[in-house]
Amino acid sequence: MLEKKLKSIEPFTSNAEKNSRFCIGCGEPATKLVKYSTEGAIIVEKYCDKCAKAIEDSSSN
Ligand SMILES: [Zn+2]
Repeated sequence: MLEKKLKSIEPFTSNAEKNSRFCIGCGEPATKLVKYSTEGAIIVEKYCDKCAKAIEDSSSN
């Protein structure tokens, strides 16, 4: 299993992205791109504001 480390949380850059994706945490429309770094790769997952905030908070302990 790959270890994921939070790299950054960024807002979507286009309306097309906003309209075509849902938060993988809760199913609401997603607004943020959450990027993780793993060994040799970047993983991008999409979340709503609320879930992105929760991830940000939990990663800053
Ligand atoms: Zn969510």
